[in-house]
Formats: sequence, structure tokens, C-alpha cells
Amino acid sequence: MRLNGKTALVTGGVRGIGRAIVLDLAKAGANIVTCTRQGGEPATTLEKELREIGGEHHVATADVTRPEDIDALVGECERRWGRIDIVVNNAGAISHVPFAELTAEEWHKVVNTGLTATAMVIQRALPLLGRGASVINIGSKVATVGLPLRVHYTAAKAGLIGLTRSLAKELGERGIRVNLVAPGPVETEAGVPDDVRERYRRMIAVGRMGRPEEIATVVTFLAGEQASFINGETINVDGGI
Ligand code: NDP
Repeated sequence: MRLNGKTALVTGGVRGIGRAIVLDLAKAGANIVTCTRQGGEPATTLEKELREIGGEHHVATADVTRPEDIDALVGECERRWGRIDIVVNNAGAISHVPFAELTAEEWHKVVNTGLTATAMVIQRALPLLGRGASVINIGSKVATVGLPLRVHYTAAKAGLIGLTRSLAKELGERGIRVNLVAPGPVETEAGVPDDVRERYRRMIAVGRMGRPEEIATVVTFLAGEQASFINGETINVDGGI
């Protein structure tokens, strides 16, 4: 149990990649607070799976674009453990819009969720982060290659690269590492149309889309002591796209 007794805050952990991250961290021994914007069946199912794994976990209802919800999430960790060892900023929003039609509202929604909320979660969690703490932001491969119709999304994800590098330098002497995991196309339970899967099959060297667990395993590695000299890095997990 590499992360035995460690405490983790994971945003957006009830579905997709976030869910795989939560389960992998829990299996490695971490106690976890995570969140979803709405409760319901996916949250209940995750809670059940976490109970079977063991440890102390909590699935909160929170929207990371609301400062009061971030306060509540971090407050939950503080109340339970008095510290946070691992922060995973996974929550993200995406939409497909031609740049000429992109409204300010849509821009702000995607940038607030993907970039601003990440900064705010880390800042609010900072007093609880001690030496050895690990912050992992979930970026995207498209931040460095670009993608039409996702200018707002790629801008937010590219912003995370600078945020990660600068924070790594600012927080390094306090013993806090900050890294970025940049997934390529990953198929989650939301699914993708067959033609999209086929296009990715041809684009990705290993001949398929990624699985959420293949992102989660890198996050768990970065969270632990084995990664103690990795700081400010972007790790692409993209099958060689
Ligand atoms: P989705 O894009 O399908 O879902 C987004 C996740 O973020 C959900 O867990 C959702 O929680 C959460 N979320 C969205 N907005 C908010 C908010 N305002 N407050 C709290 N939580 C929020 O998830 P994926 O699993 O596909 O992606 C996870 C991360 O990985 C994202 O950052 C995404 O950009 C990134 N990524 C994904 C890739 C892929 O191919 N899937 C490729 C590259 C990067 P809920 O709906 O439960 O509230």
C-alpha cells in the first residue's frame, strides 16, 4: 500500500478519468474526499466501491467554479484529517464551438472550470499541504498540439502547463511538488461514436484510445514517494499519438 494513510482531494471523481483516479488512489491506501456537481446513482455506486476497498472516503456535492464549494471541500479534508497530502485537479469542461461563435459565457465556463478552479483549489488547500505533498493537474495533449473548435479548452489546458511549472518552482522549497498529466484521447463510460474511435485508432501509435485506468496509474505514481524528484513536469499519456 504505497499511499497508506495519505489523504487526497480529487475534483470530479465520480465519473470518467476522475473516477479511475479515485479508485486507484484508494487501492493504494489513500483516504479521499472527492466531488460531483450532482449526487445520484454514480455517486452512490462510487461510495459503495470505495467502502469495499476500505479507508475513509467522502463524496461531496460541489461545483469547483464556486469559491464557497471549494472552501467546503477543503474544509471537509481539514475537519477529517487536518492536512492534505495529494491534490488532483481533474474536473474539466469542454465544448465544440467554432471560434467565431464562441460566446464570452462559454469561454468563461470552460476556462473557469479547467484553469481558474485549479488555481483556486490549490491556493485554498495550500495551508494544509506539508512537506512531501503532491499536486497533480490533469491537462490534455491537445494543449500542445492545438485542436480546432476547442480554442477555449486548449487555452485553459495550455494555461495549466505554465501554472504547473511556476507553482512547482514557487512551492518546491516547501517540499510540495506540482506536476501535470496530459492524457491523449481516453474512452470513458460516456463513450465515443465509432467513426471517432476509428480515426483515433489510426492516429495513435498503439492503435487504440486510452483507458481511464492508464491515466490513473500515472497519477498514483506521481502522488507517491517514488516520484519525489519529479517536479514541474508534464507527463503525456497518449499512446504515442
Ligand atoms: P468528462 O469531461 O466526461 O467529465 C468532466 C469531469 O469533471 C466530471 O467528473 C465532472 O463531474 C467534473 N466537472 C466538470 N465541471 C465541474 C465543476 N464545475 N465542478 C466540479 N466538477 C466538475 O471527464 P473525463 O473523464 O473525460 O475527463 C477528466 C479530465 O481529463 C478533464 O479535465 C478532461 O479535460 C481531461 N482529459 C480528458 C480526455 C479524454 O479523452 N477523456 C483527454 C484529455 C484530457 P460531474 O459531472 O460528476 O459533476
